[in-house]
Amino acid sequence: MIIAMSIEATEEEIQHVIERVEECGFKAHVSRGAERVVIGAVGNNQRRHELEALRAAPGVEEVVPIAHPFKLVSLQFKRERTVVEVAGVRIGGPEAVVIAGPCSVESREQILQTARAVRHAGAHMLRGGAYKPRTSPYDFQGLGIEALRLLTEARAETGLPVVTEVMSTEDVETVAEHADVLQVGARNMQNFPLLRRLAKTPRPILLKRGPSATVKEWLLAAEYLLSGGNERVILCERGIKTFETELRNTLDLAAVALAKELSHLPVIVDPSHGTGRRSLIAAASRAALAIGSDGLIVEVHPCPERALSDGQQSLDLTEFSRMMRDLTAPLPKLAPSFALAC
Ligand code: PEP
Ligand code: MN
Repeated sequence: MIIAMSIEATEEEIQHVIERVEECGFKAHVSRGAERVVIGAVGNNQRRHELEALRAAPGVEEVVPIAHPFKLVSLQFKRERTVVEVAGVRIGGPEAVVIAGPCSVESREQILQTARAVRHAGAHMLRGGAYKPRTSPYDFQGLGIEALRLLTEARAETGLPVVTEVMSTEDVETVAEHADVLQVGARNMQNFPLLRRLAKTPRPILLKRGPSATVKEWLLAAEYLLSGGNERVILCERGIKTFETELRNTLDLAAVALAKELSHLPVIVDPSHGTGRRSLIAAASRAALAIGSDGLIVEVHPCPERALSDGQQSLDLTEFSRMMRDLTAPLPKLAPSFALAC
């Protein structure tokens, strides 16, 4: 249930409603917007009618059920868009943000060279995998703690905040010490113990959509983070499995628009995993921004043919710089309209 307080509600009236919600066995989540306070009563029991009766309490404007299974994530609960701020970079505001870097951190030279180049080309944040979720156990698994130290060094030199994946609950503390944003990989989107643990970290979370997850399941995964106490969540569309075999994944751009229609959380797009082909990354990135994505996360490597993971979908440094230059070029003009001709 959402209990929307009136614009004139006093702090006392707000506190009274919070107490009543808790007395009824629900958890009260308070969203303080610029204009009004909204209290989300989240939980599941037989006392919903008592919440409905709060319509009569002083300061209450309306009591309405939240229509979706996800509650705190929904735009119905929080009507102002969430902006996640990471060391001065604002994700979800009016300007799009670009995160770039290699799939995996492979060496000091590789990550520093990439960090300098992507910064020069205009990227706002650095990505780089330290712990890699690989389909085969024989593939490169990441440099672990050594990669985290190299990312810290790259941040110190370039000033770019760092995004890196955390795969297990045991690593959360260590990764959070080194990274500015913790990525939940697509394969871990429904790793509920990991989500519960990440709800308790002070770091923002980049939550990738699972390859077979519906938008509802993706938003419910985000709900684990918000309901556990972490409101700094960035959603990331990275392509889903379909019958198409020519592409690694099918980039579901409509899901980006839908997620933004349903939720107040920022949504970004990963065109690298979303297409699996470097030739399509620039076009997919422009399309992502056109549909309303709040940003991009792109794989970049100084020498993609030598990359230890995902070389085929990584831009080299020159290609990335070109992509950045063309990213916001105007769309093609429309052909003359019949309306003007008459
Ligand atoms: C990655 O970002 O390198 C990665 C493994 O992403 P995903 O979880 O989307 O496959
Ligand atoms: Mn990758």
